[in-house]
Amino acid sequence: MTAVVIESISVITCPACGHAESEEMAIDSCQYFYDCRACGRVLKALPGDCCVFCSYGTAPCPPIQEARAAQQTP
Ligand SMILES: [Zn+2]
Repeated sequence: MTAVVIESISVITCPACGHAESEEMAIDSCQYFYDCRACGRVLKALPGDCCVFCSYGTAPCPPIQEARAAQQTP
């Protein structure tokens, strides 16, 4: 068995002002809302995405990373 490396930091880029902020993700939960630290806009996950990290982050949330890794393993 190969251990799955889960990225716990995702850089969220605000679609309103372009501000990027590194955020640590909870390992076992999704975050549907996120307050931009620059402009204060509340980001919401896009339709079809479970959380803001999947929509706006450089890395999707840990449960999704695990699911993708499992799919790639024969
Ligand atoms: Zn912003």
